[in-house]
Amino acid sequence: MTEIPVLQLAGVRKTFGTFDAVAGIDLKIREGEFVTIVGPSGSGKTTLLRMLAGLEAPSEGAIELRGKRVNDLPSNRRPTCLVFQSLALFPHKTVGENIEFPLKVRGTPGPARRARALELMRMVRLPEEYYARNVMKCSGGEKQRVALARAFAYDPDVLFFDEPLSALDYKLKKVLEKELKDLHRASGKTFVYITHSLEEAMVMSDRIGVMRAGRIVQIGTPEEIYARPVDRFVAEFFGELNLIALIRGAGGYTREDGAPIVLPPHGCTAPQAFAVIRPEAMRFTVPGGAENTVSATLFNEYSLGSRSQFQLRDGARTWLVEAARGADTPAPGATALIGWDARDTIVVEG
Ligand code: ADP
Ligand code: MG
Repeated sequence: MTEIPVLQLAGVRKTFGTFDAVAGIDLKIREGEFVTIVGPSGSGKTTLLRMLAGLEAPSEGAIELRGKRVNDLPSNRRPTCLVFQSLALFPHKTVGENIEFPLKVRGTPGPARRARALELMRMVRLPEEYYARNVMKCSGGEKQRVALARAFAYDPDVLFFDEPLSALDYKLKKVLEKELKDLHRASGKTFVYITHSLEEAMVMSDRIGVMRAGRIVQIGTPEEIYARPVDRFVAEFFGELNLIALIRGAGGYTREDGAPIVLPPHGCTAPQAFAVIRPEAMRFTVPGGAENTVSATLFNEYSLGSRSQFQLRDGARTWLVEAARGADTPAPGATALIGWDARDTIVVEG
């Protein structure tokens, strides 16, 4: 079956002066998908989203919406809507007036506008009595809900989000992440979300694209990207890890520092590579208890609730082990044997 993607980008580039903020992106987004683009600050996420939303024209390449080229279609003529971090609410208006704005522009009569606004307020879990409240009297989380309800009032096919939760405190962010995901599921709309927070991306997305210096270096499900990062940058972006520098010799890769290492089969051929081992793949062990073992001294333990992260030192190197505290857990200052198996090792290019 050939399904036309709701959004398709081919060779999309945006150049400011001589600088490529977006350096050639190919991407297909399916109807109803929740796609998150993550990347460090300055990697081109906002520029990419502004092009998708029609606020900026690409310097090169094509953007298609359901198979139709929209490069030059202005934002207000696209079936899409962008929710900013700043929310861009009308400060002197009520919650109801803010939500009804798109309907008013379209000439929807007053009673129908009000009915729809109240329906949207229920959807984003805003109490009905907020309808007549000045929007500036709302808390940060409530304003976020107003902005979301207003975006839905446009009835767009695709909603774009530019770090809408980044200004909120941690607890509220966690609540809204889950609500956004529920809203996505319930509405069946396509969401394209950008954030520099991997945690946010992991919770909500069907697929995550990782952006670096204007390019998408990897795209896949959260599980794929976590388990099979394409390079060191993606591996490091996706959480804490143990990283071992490798060099290629006649018989394959060896540790740069000369210590032995058992690696899994891999397709890496670069002169320099890295072995990545997630802290949760490491364990305290006994001689012969793992394919790779290292003797190191425990200097720190952080509780993660039911598990702990242990930090150990072996010379200048720090090792991270995430495990449940148990009978084999060493005391601070004690030397212990830690280990991991080849199958838990990811070999990536540097
Ligand atoms: P992100 O959202 O990932 O932080 P941006 O898309 O905002 O990144 O910016 C990517 C790069 O493009 C940055 O180096 C930024 O300074 C540059 N940039 C963005 N907009 C403009 C502009 N209008 N003129 C010149 N440079 C810009
Ligand atoms: Mg940005």
